[in-house]
Amino acid sequence: MSREQKAVDRARKAFETGRSKPLERIRQLKNLQRLLTERKKEIADAIKKDLGKSEEGAQLYETLGLEGEINTAVRNLKEWAAPRPVQKNLLTLSDTVYIRPEPLGVVLVLGAWNYPWAVTIQPLIGAIAAGNAVVIKPSEVCVHTAKVMEDLLPLYIDKELYPVVTGGVPETQELLRQRFDHIFYTGNSMVGKLIMEAAAKHLTPVTLELGGKSPCYIDRNCDLTIACRRIAWGKYTNCGQTCIAPDYILCDPSIQNRVIEEVQKAVKEFYTDDPKTCPDYGRIINQRHFRRIMAMLADSTVAVGGDNDESDCYIAPTILKDVKPDAKVMQEEIFGPLLPILPISSLDEAIKFINKGEKPLALYVFSHDNKVVNRIRDETSSGGLLANDCLVHFSVNSLPFGGVGNSGMGCYHGKFSFDQLSHQRGCLIKQLKMEGMNSMRYPPHTAKKLGW
Ligand code: NAD
Repeated sequence: MSREQKAVDRARKAFETGRSKPLERIRQLKNLQRLLTERKKEIADAIKKDLGKSEEGAQLYETLGLEGEINTAVRNLKEWAAPRPVQKNLLTLSDTVYIRPEPLGVVLVLGAWNYPWAVTIQPLIGAIAAGNAVVIKPSEVCVHTAKVMEDLLPLYIDKELYPVVTGGVPETQELLRQRFDHIFYTGNSMVGKLIMEAAAKHLTPVTLELGGKSPCYIDRNCDLTIACRRIAWGKYTNCGQTCIAPDYILCDPSIQNRVIEEVQKAVKEFYTDDPKTCPDYGRIINQRHFRRIMAMLADSTVAVGGDNDESDCYIAPTILKDVKPDAKVMQEEIFGPLLPILPISSLDEAIKFINKGEKPLALYVFSHDNKVVNRIRDETSSGGLLANDCLVHFSVNSLPFGGVGNSGMGCYHGKFSFDQLSHQRGCLIKQLKMEGMNSMRYPPHTAKKLGW
């Protein structure tokens, strides 16, 4: 029996003892909270080694949100998990009819590397809250973080119910051969298809948190200084390696130069004249991704930035101007610090352009004019929509977070995680009395009996 098979087996056996179900799961969540507090330093150090993020950056973008998520779950779990009475019809008036959220069983969480704690532990929180056993597979790309997770999680939460399995593609493939009750995958769309294919063999439901190109439309009627500051933050945080980073800008040709100027100004303010030595500016995760991103520059004009250093996986915050739709940088999600600007002649053209692409994970619009915001909202589709800011919808856990079409399926955060990883069991409890009320449904079905 493989190591992966053994871990799944143990998790299933632990689930079958029933110990993940009672509200004792709140204790497991509190233990996870304790881990985040007590081991802050080890977590941040590992993230720094993997992605070059500062300690403050790691806390701000990774663990702070998790603490909020745990608090929400702990505070509301009793209410979320309680059976909900529903409306009855004439035939069931004297019965008890309700929806009871129940655990699904054993959930597989496959994490990605770009926010290695956030995207692995956040689904784990929802899965624990919903009463499941969970096999956790952190991304192998973040070597140090995966090791810290493997070492620390068993010290704080039930190691049989929530085992960590580390490894790369072969180990993930072995895991995917096992039977799960749900698979929660975060990563790219190509692998997302492989996950769904493997899940289909066992008819296992999936949540796919994928990526893609998130467009950013800037209207002429807009405070460009503020807009570009927010866009620069959204783009260059984590060196552009954010699933909801604004991928490219669409704007009128007449404001292109101002946009370049204002983004450049914000970059200076955030990361100084020399981002390479600035502790708040990260690095590309590895040389494979460094080369992938650099190759995208081949047929575009660099307006700002472009400096790079392969040995340090450094690419400066870069702006590309007059980019054509068929340029290399427009063919796939950038996932790096390049910001292409595509001049576009009208809002109609922008909407047409957005709708020609796959449905994005996030869609950004900057305008003072509500009509523009509403037109973008009403005439397009995307996982989430944000007007006049970037990224912050991720932090609002009363909003569902997830993609649509090529950017994913299913959603999570807050109660949405709990619902996504629960089975909503419809229950109808009748008494063995009042049989007379049922006479109409039993054959023979005569018009006389039915009163027709
Ligand atoms: P990755 O390489 O870390 O892969 C993610 C997981 O898939 C890992 O656990 C890995 O072991 C597994 N995997 C990789 N190749 C596999 C294969 N051939 N078969 C089976 N399993 C395999 O991450 P990535 O895909 O490079 O992540 C970046 C992508 O993730 C981007 O597209 C980004 O937009 C997206 N993303 C989405 C979200 C979201 O919440 N929607 C969050 C973060 C990242």
